[in-house]
Amino acid sequence: MIATKGARAVVDSISDCPRDSKRIAHPHVRYTVADSLMRYAEFLGYGDIHTKIDEKTGLKAFVAIHNLNRGPAIGGCRMVTYQTIDKAMEDALRLGYMMSYKAAINNLPHGGAKAVLIKPKVIKDREAYFEKFGDFVNELGGRYITAVDSGTSPLEMDIIARRTPFVTCTTKSGADSDPSPLTALGVRRAIEAAVKFKFGRDSLEGTHIAIQGAGHVGYCLAKEVFALGAEITVSDVNLKAIQRCVDEFGAKVCPPDEIYSIAADVFAPCALGAVLNLNTIKQLKATIVAGSANNQLSHHHYGTLMHERGILYAPDFLINAGGLIHVAVLYDHGDMNKSLEQIRNIYHTAYDIYERSMRENRSTSEIAEKIAKEKLKPSA
Ligand code: NAD
Repeated sequence: MIATKGARAVVDSISDCPRDSKRIAHPHVRYTVADSLMRYAEFLGYGDIHTKIDEKTGLKAFVAIHNLNRGPAIGGCRMVTYQTIDKAMEDALRLGYMMSYKAAINNLPHGGAKAVLIKPKVIKDREAYFEKFGDFVNELGGRYITAVDSGTSPLEMDIIARRTPFVTCTTKSGADSDPSPLTALGVRRAIEAAVKFKFGRDSLEGTHIAIQGAGHVGYCLAKEVFALGAEITVSDVNLKAIQRCVDEFGAKVCPPDEIYSIAADVFAPCALGAVLNLNTIKQLKATIVAGSANNQLSHHHYGTLMHERGILYAPDFLINAGGLIHVAVLYDHGDMNKSLEQIRNIYHTAYDIYERSMRENRSTSEIAEKIAKEKLKPSA
């Protein structure tokens, strides 16, 4: 049965979707994957889900538009291999929904959406393929603005731009394919705000940060905080990723299972979702948790548990939105500096939430979700 209480900002998978309808409906009715997906979409509050199939180019795409109440929906276009079509659609639904929350909490004049292109074994004509996708975006009349994501780059955005104005991150815009440095910047700002809030310090000098996962974002975060004088411990299952942090930032290394109990000031989960659970929270010695991973809480209740234990949790969907902020600001203003300014502003949004959490004695995750939900309402 789906957990609707507290309206989790992020619903991890379609397994969260109510599946008990068999028991209450006619016993001979067989429910299909399509039923489950539709119920999942309904639960997440979807309005528009669009499909395009083009035999000639091999394009098979979904655009899931989650919310239009704040403005046109924006979100990347990912092209990856999927084992099944329902997995692709599930991905589009889950990611589009997350984009809405990220956009709302960061005050972007946009709703969230996601395009998922099911990567064909071979794309015979890449230009025709992305032009067709551009036509698809254009047919949506500006309700969806597309951007780079896994498997696409500014070069593909250039092709799409031949067919529609509703695209950002083209080569002309100066955007990069990799949003990780921008994501890391947002996480760093939330850490700075947390360090100020918890310890009254304006600098990260001497702050010990334990980073779980030294991949794209983890590495960039280590670089950012090292430059500001922080001490770093890293854990990763990839030895090369660890070595790079040791060589460049003098990072200490710890085995993956021990990262939770490191006596650091900050624990930064930058590897996997659902890492914050009863077992790991019990081990935490850090008083701040702030990282880039999506869906860090394995259940929304764990936000409250951390709050009760005096651990300041920086809500993931607020602080890892640097990439989304960047593409939205580029589309709206075409100004890289403005986008950096807005990502840096995560400091203030986070700080306000930390303060409100203390004032109201409620978890930061609960407050952030409530704010985002309010902002996604039609009147907001
Ligand atoms: P990545 O794959 O480049 O890095 C993840 C790293 O975690 C890898 O080095 C991997 O070896 C390591 N890892 C895997 N299992 C581990 C474990 N058990 N213990 C320690 N390390 C482990 O991914 P990324 O792009 O850096 O993203 C990291 C997280 O941030 C993901 O959850 C992603 O969804 C989220 N995120 C990323 C961005 C972005 O801009 N890349 C934006 C928003 C959210």
